[in-house]
Amino acid sequence: MGTPTLYTDIVIIGGGVAGLWALNLLRERGYSAVLFEQEALGSHQTIGSQGMIHGGIKYALGGALTPGSQVIAAMPSLWRECLAGRGPVNLRGCEVLSDAFHVWSSGSLSARINSFFASKLLRGRVEALKPDAYPTPLRHPDFRGHVYRLEELVLDVPSLVSNLAKRHSGDMFCIDWDTASLQRVKRRARLVLPEVVLEPECLLLAAGCGNQALMEALDSASPAMQRRPLQQVLVKHSYAQPLFAHCLGNRPSPRLTITSHRCSDGHPVWYLGGDLATAGAGESPERLVDHARGELAELLPWLDLGECEWRTLTLDRAEHAQAGLMRPDTAFVGPVAGVDNALVAWPTKLTLTPRLGELLESQLQERSILPRHTPDLSPLAQVPRPALAAPYWDTLFQ
Ligand SMILES: Cc1cc2nc3c(=O)[nH]c(=O)nc-3n(C[C@H](O)[C@H](O)[C@H](O)COP(=O)(O)OP(=O)(O)OC[C@H]3O[C@@H](n4cnc5c(N)ncnc54)[C@H](O)[C@@H]3O)c2cc1C
Repeated sequence: MGTPTLYTDIVIIGGGVAGLWALNLLRERGYSAVLFEQEALGSHQTIGSQGMIHGGIKYALGGALTPGSQVIAAMPSLWRECLAGRGPVNLRGCEVLSDAFHVWSSGSLSARINSFFASKLLRGRVEALKPDAYPTPLRHPDFRGHVYRLEELVLDVPSLVSNLAKRHSGDMFCIDWDTASLQRVKRRARLVLPEVVLEPECLLLAAGCGNQALMEALDSASPAMQRRPLQQVLVKHSYAQPLFAHCLGNRPSPRLTITSHRCSDGHPVWYLGGDLATAGAGESPERLVDHARGELAELLPWLDLGECEWRTLTLDRAEHAQAGLMRPDTAFVGPVAGVDNALVAWPTKLTLTPRLGELLESQLQERSILPRHTPDLSPLAQVPRPALAAPYWDTLFQ
C-alpha cells in the first residue's frame, strides 16, 4: 500500500505569531488547516519580541505621520477586541503586561515633537502627563523633561503564544525536514511526510527567516526576503517597579525602549531595545552591555537596580524585501512565484499580525479558496506535537 494522500484546505509551515494567527483565523472561518513547526511554537522573533502592540506613534517620532504609521494606527483597538474575545481571533486569557506605553525625553523635547504630540491627529492617542502620574521609575526630583502616555498595549508574549496554541492544538504537528519535503509538481506544491502526502488548496509559508529556504525548495526566489538584525540587551535585577517606555534622544527613532518582564524564578528583567539594539547589532556583547549600562546610568541615574546580570540577544527581523533595506510599511502576504497554490507571509511586526490575517483572507477570496475539505488526520496520530518556546529571559540566564 502506498503513502496515503490527505486533501486539506490549508497547510501552514511555521508556528510563530504569523502561522498561529493564520491557523486560528482560518479554523474559525471553517477551513481545514494543519500547521507544521520544526522547533517550538513561537521560536525566534515572536518569543524574542518585546510584545509592544503599538499604533505607529513610535514611527512618527520625527514629527509626522507617514503612510506606514496610518496603516498601523488601527491595530491596538483590533487587538483589544481580540483580547475581549470579540475579534477575528479569540485571545481571551492572554496576559496584558501594560495597557499603556510611555514616552519620555531625556532633556527638552524638540518644539516640533511637542506640537506634533499636541496635534489634532494624535488626540486621544497621546496624553501629556503631570509629574504625579509619571511611572514610578521616572518619578524623581532630578528628572528633567516631559512624559507622555500612549494608548498602546504590551502583551506577555509567552502567554500570547500559549493562547494561540491552545485552541487548535489538534491541528499542529512537529516536522523533521530530514524525512519531510516540499515538492512542486507542475505548478502545485505539496508536502510529503513519511506518513502521508498533504495536498493543500493553499500552502502558507509563515516561517519567518525560514521562508527563504522553503521558497528555494519550491524553486522560487520571489517574493524576496530581507533580514534586519537587532542585538537586544537583557538585564536581570531586583528593582521591582516595571517600566514600559521609549526614551527619545535626538533621532526620530527611540534612543532606548524598555519593557519589563519576569523570569520564572520571579526576578524582574528589563528588556532593552530601540537605537541601542539596532545600532548595536554588530557590536560585541561586552561592548553593547557597557553601552547599555552607560545609557541607564545617564538616563535614570537615581535608579538602583540592585545586583544585575546582563545578556544580549541577536535576532534577525525577517521581512518582505524593500529598496534600501527599509522597514516595510505593513504586513505582507503574496503568491510564491511559479507556484499556483502557495502564499508567503511576513507580518513585519507583531502588531501588524491582524492585518496579515486580513490580507490572507483577501488572497484566499481572490483565488476562490473556500472551506471544502474535512481531512481525517488519523495518519498523523503518531507525529509529535510541538512544545511552546521558552522565553529568552529564562533560557539566557540559566
Ligand atoms: C528583538 C525583537 C523585538 C521585537 N519586538 C516587537 C514588538 O515589541 N512589537 C512588534 O510589533 N513587533 C516586534 N518585533 C517583530 C515581531 O517579533 C515579528 O514581526 C514577528 O514575531 C514575526 O513573526 P513570524 O511568525 O513571521 O516569525 P517567527 O516569530 O520568527 O516564527 C517563525 C516560526 O517558523 C518556524 N520555522 C522556521 N523555519 C521553519 C521550517 N522550515 N519548517 C517549520 N517551521 C519553521 C520557526 O521555528 C518559528 O517558530 C520584534 C522583533 C525582534 C527580532
